[in-house]
Amino acid sequence: MTTFADSLLRLRHAFVSGKSRSEEFRINQLNSLVQLLQENEMELLNVLYKDLRKNKFEAMIAEIGFVKNEATYALNNIRSWMEAEIVEKSFITKQDQCFIQKEPFGLILIIATWSHPIQLLLMPLIGAIAAGNCVVLKPSEVSANTSALLSNLIPKYLDKDCFAVFIGGPVETRKLLQFKFDYVFYTGNSTVGKVIMKAAAEHLTPITLELGGKNPCYVDQSFHLESTAHRLTWGRFFNAGQSCVAPDYILCTREVQDQLVPAIGECLDTFYGKDPKESPDYGRIINDEHFKRLLELLNSGQVIIGGETDNEDRYIAPTVLIDVKESDPVMREEINGPILPIINISSLEEAIGFINRRQKPLSLYIYSTNNKVVNEALEKTSSGGFCSNDNAVQMTLNTLPFGGIGYSGLGMYHGKFTFDTFSHKRSCVLKSPGMEKINSTRYPPYNEQKLRWLLWATDVKKRDCSCQLL
Ligand code: NAD
Repeated sequence: MTTFADSLLRLRHAFVSGKSRSEEFRINQLNSLVQLLQENEMELLNVLYKDLRKNKFEAMIAEIGFVKNEATYALNNIRSWMEAEIVEKSFITKQDQCFIQKEPFGLILIIATWSHPIQLLLMPLIGAIAAGNCVVLKPSEVSANTSALLSNLIPKYLDKDCFAVFIGGPVETRKLLQFKFDYVFYTGNSTVGKVIMKAAAEHLTPITLELGGKNPCYVDQSFHLESTAHRLTWGRFFNAGQSCVAPDYILCTREVQDQLVPAIGECLDTFYGKDPKESPDYGRIINDEHFKRLLELLNSGQVIIGGETDNEDRYIAPTVLIDVKESDPVMREEINGPILPIINISSLEEAIGFINRRQKPLSLYIYSTNNKVVNEALEKTSSGGFCSNDNAVQMTLNTLPFGGIGYSGLGMYHGKFTFDTFSHKRSCVLKSPGMEKINSTRYPPYNEQKLRWLLWATDVKKRDCSCQLL
């Protein structure tokens, strides 16, 4: 039986041999990944349905199509990403070649979670391949069907010397983390994020932590009723609320709530019909443990929409709660399910105060037609990402970095940001043995003349610009 140690040794040897570094190899592997998604679309849709009752539409836009686009984007840009970056030179290095080399880190460990199990495993993999690394993938045991299929398919499409998938839960993950990796990329909750960080610290391994938390959503009195209701309802109940970028709770005045709640109710009718349980477009809770956890959260405030549950089916109706207090269970943890609490506040200022006294969120949403309100919220708060008059779309652009800040994460990815995450920026100066006369000015015996010359040659001249302080 091959052990973790054997497999990791094989991958390590492959990296040292240079196999994963050539441009041709990277392009081939990315093309194979696209092929995996294309040739197995039906099977992938089936396992997503089994795990989360995920419908084809959401599976295509948030998983299969999303990842395919990311791989194509990487293929379109890999040549320029890989190029060395030429940097500005000083007088002393004028004759030298000075540049940043994008060096692959080596052996990467990617640990993923279950809410979008294809996306969250393969998006970081794309950048890791593009950057020339070898990779160990650890999908989530919670989305068991999808993880099993991916662990079966990946070795059929990707090079077995350079890529491996390990199936397992916390015990196996902790065992894996005892080995030395050159980079660890983790997506999941903040508590386990600390476990990952501690384990990585043992080897001084750099990490990215893609975590979660409660994403606030402030709806100002200047909001646009129809679009706010549509977008908020879609964002919260997409994948049955199991998305890290979903709006977690609403902050608004009672007057705004009085308009918004009926509008959300109408949207739910339009989106999922009178009985969302019968809708092919509405998902289910991933497992019994999360189902029970969510039931507890329903004991907060007052159910104004939804609230129906069915434990046989792990169904929780799209639910809106009002009269929620900050101390209620639903406000004490990230919801990650189809529940939308509303907390009443009296002003933008109060909303900003509320947001700022909690952990920095992954995403922050503001609904307002008043640019002043949007800009004030942008200026006076901090979060991984920000979006006004919509939600989740900030993570769909591969030209924007995706990641948290503080408790919601460390580091960023998507598009070139993933390539950069998995590339060491190596500072390189290529010199010739000539020009020794100039170089000799730095050697002892030191004297005033040499010092003056060297200070002049290395001096950074202040630019004439209006940003200088008086
Ligand atoms: P999970 O239970 O699938 O755990 C994530 C990974 O960590 C799994 O691979 C699991 O095997 C491993 N793991 C779990 N417990 C462990 C332990 N004690 N020691 C070592 N490894 C362990 O997923 P989860 O934590 O329930 O994920 C939900 C969280 O992920 C939410 O907070 C959500 O917001 C966040 N999330 C973040 C993003 C993002 O991109 N920032 C995306 C999706 C979800």
